[in-house]
Amino acid sequence: MPDLLIRSLTTPDGRPTDLGIRGSRLIGPEQLDHPHVIDADGLVVLPGLVDLHTHLREPSPQHAETVSSGTAAAAHGGFTAVFAMANTDPVADTADAVRQVTRLARKASAEVIPIGAVTQGQAGRRLSPIEAMHEAGTTVFSDDGHCVMDAALMRQALRRVGRFGGVIAEHCQDHNLATASACLPDSLLKDHPLLGSTQPGDPDALGATEEWPWSAESVIVARDIQLAADTGARIHLCHVSTAESVEILRWAKAHHLPVTAEATPHHLLLDESLLVGGDTLFKVNPPLRNTEDRAAVRQALADGVIDIVGTDHAPHVPGDKDKPFPQAKPGMLGLEQALGVVVETMVNTGLLDWTGVAQRMSVTPARIGRIEARQGRPLAVGEPANLVLVDPARRRVVDKNASLSLSRNNPYDGLTLPDPVVATFWAGRPTWTEPNFLAQ
Ligand SMILES: [Zn+2]
Repeated sequence: MPDLLIRSLTTPDGRPTDLGIRGSRLIGPEQLDHPHVIDADGLVVLPGLVDLHTHLREPSPQHAETVSSGTAAAAHGGFTAVFAMANTDPVADTADAVRQVTRLARKASAEVIPIGAVTQGQAGRRLSPIEAMHEAGTTVFSDDGHCVMDAALMRQALRRVGRFGGVIAEHCQDHNLATASACLPDSLLKDHPLLGSTQPGDPDALGATEEWPWSAESVIVARDIQLAADTGARIHLCHVSTAESVEILRWAKAHHLPVTAEATPHHLLLDESLLVGGDTLFKVNPPLRNTEDRAAVRQALADGVIDIVGTDHAPHVPGDKDKPFPQAKPGMLGLEQALGVVVETMVNTGLLDWTGVAQRMSVTPARIGRIEARQGRPLAVGEPANLVLVDPARRRVVDKNASLSLSRNNPYDGLTLPDPVVATFWAGRPTWTEPNFLAQ
């Protein structure tokens, strides 16, 4: 590719800038050699976004997503790096499985960093070969979808991961309080039209085992914060969804404990009222919560008590969603609308400025996942050209069929949301652009 000069950009802190790209790096505009010139007047430039929580679903026999389609969707959403969750089929619980993800990512549209399972088969009984997986390229370990319920096992895992500065990303759900079939917040279940409404054995009927009480999250949040304090190792709390979890996190931050946390786009925008009709599109784990929880999560993300946005992008084939509510798979897409949702809920509400967005969606997730040497970097000469150019004002109706994901379980379909991403560059290469953006 020839040298590229992108003119009239605005930095996150509001300064005008021109950026030069040669090969994979940013260079000074005065050093460019007959560059192709693009006028980006009105666009803000951010460091390429980093998602610490992506389900790429490969390997898997089901093809809800692949590394190729998932990273294409990531680029469309402004991401230049994604951490691939370990709950593939088979589970990424060996060094070989970790290396396979790295191999699959060679032709991807974003950097893919494999997450390793904490326990073998994510079964919560025996630890995975953590050190061997680290040598194969993993710094983040998670049994996401399952909580590591045995506190002693979790403590041991933290000690081992702590030796090389890794982190455990925990799915906070006490399975004795919220079982595998839990799917509805307790506040909603007691009045739900499907509760016990039909004959015994009817798969549509909701019962007590569907209850997902808020305390099932915050008891694990509290436990894991204590284990992090005990071991000195880093814990990262996935998809924080309740006001009570936020309060405990606030305490942990005030005590400078080695704890970080994430909020998902769907918990920032959506709420439990969408679950009343029983549409499985809105079934997710942890469930959508009430508006007070949502406000607490937004405020915590603004304050830095919640450090980052993690998408929990969870593609599903139609057959996994087209089931009675208790049996349908939890999860929703997130990569392509994540930035738009953050603009809607955090920027347009005055809770975050663009510097804050860059911190929460690029700089800090890169640091948590230990890829800060190449992602989430300053927009400076000599740095890798990992960039996303955004139009702060553009809005569009979300069309699930315009997605680059292989799946269609998009909870934002039909909503009018900010659609900010104009172009994404990963290592100097355009991985997604608006049509004709490069041809101008
Ligand atoms: Zn999870």
